[in-house]
Amino acid sequence: MKYFIPNLHNLPKSATFVINKNKYRYSKHYKINGMKKILVSGGAGFIGSHLCTRLINDGHQVQCLDNLFTGSKKNIAHLMGNPRFEFVLHDVENPYETEVDEIYNLACPASPIHYQYDAIKTIKTSVMGAINMLGLAKRTKAKILQASTSEVYGDPVIHPQVESYWGNVNPIGIRSCYDEGKRCAETLFMDYYRQNGIRIKIIRIFNTYGPRMLSNDGRVVSNFVVQALQNHDITIYGSGNQTRSFQYIDDLIEGMVRMMNTEDDFIGPVNLGNPNEFSILELAEKIIKLSGSKSKLIFEPLPHDDPKQRQPDITLAKEKLNWKPTIELDEGLQYMVEYFKEIIPGKQYLYNGQTM
Ligand code: NAD
Ligand code: UDP
Repeated sequence: MKYFIPNLHNLPKSATFVINKNKYRYSKHYKINGMKKILVSGGAGFIGSHLCTRLINDGHQVQCLDNLFTGSKKNIAHLMGNPRFEFVLHDVENPYETEVDEIYNLACPASPIHYQYDAIKTIKTSVMGAINMLGLAKRTKAKILQASTSEVYGDPVIHPQVESYWGNVNPIGIRSCYDEGKRCAETLFMDYYRQNGIRIKIIRIFNTYGPRMLSNDGRVVSNFVVQALQNHDITIYGSGNQTRSFQYIDDLIEGMVRMMNTEDDFIGPVNLGNPNEFSILELAEKIIKLSGSKSKLIFEPLPHDDPKQRQPDITLAKEKLNWKPTIELDEGLQYMVEYFKEIIPGKQYLYNGQTM
């Protein structure tokens, strides 16, 4: 019988192969000195690019799948040329065949203005993307992690949100394409787990911010920092008394990797977020102070179905992942201000030593 022989280029001499015998056609993937082949869908986006970087730094082989809707090759420019990194222009609405040990399923626009731009496409991405990635996990026997969201709790009436809470989601509103798409993806993950024994992990990510967010992304932290640095009006939607809990990207990435590495019997869902809760007004004031801005606050209408409060209960993550956030808002915002100072329009920017 012929086995698939991986490319040995640039691999250590001590490399040994573990042939995984199972009944599927492309099942003979390999492991070399703990190096895993990992697929990241949505890998050219904000979170995905940080995750790909972490996985490459951990010595793995990474395949990044992205249709570049909200992602960018700039986000992964520093990884291009690394023999362990591969970018594939692909839309997860369509099936994809490869050999993998692990899959992180992140493909989906996350900012309200982006996911509402083509609502039908958003829900197709969540649902078809989940089906296609789960199908790939089934055939390759890979472990698969779903990047779900605090939006599955909708406008929560339980506060803080625990994983056992089923949520309060409008199924017919303008946020539904995202919220219900993500809920359906969780359902699909659970059904593939129960029906096909797929090794799954579900994380529910709370508002996360950091470098590589788009300056025109529309999400609150990037909007406010960019407005403050340009001394433009800061756009508060509604009264600004609604709350969010903001997590810095590095904390999230640590939690994601820890979750993927848990025992197979721990599948989640598990909340990953920073439990320190702030009103949107407090956030604006912090950013103005930190950046020394002359911006004024202006008040605009609150978008439909905008959740009034959001705060993760992270007891489960603490217990099962031995994880908690380490970067608080004041520190994280400083990094955001430094980052956006370099990239706001008209300036070339430098990030991780890379001119973009
Ligand atoms: P992002 O928009 O920067 O990244 C999403 C990536 O998915 C982009 O690179 C985009 O081009 C890609 N993509 C979109 N549709 C696709 C498709 N059909 N096929 C292939 N690729 C596609 O957003 P992000 O903040 O990095 O979010 C990443 C994931 O994390 C998303 O699934 C999002 O729902 C989830 N999440 C993020 C947050 C947050 O606060 N950032 C919170 C909760 C959940
Ligand atoms: N928001 C705001 N001004 C902005 C952008 C957002 O007041 O310029 C508010 C928004 O209405 C919401 C909160 O900030 O109450 C977080 O918005 P974001 O889009 O970042 O995330 P989500 O609503 O999905 O949590």
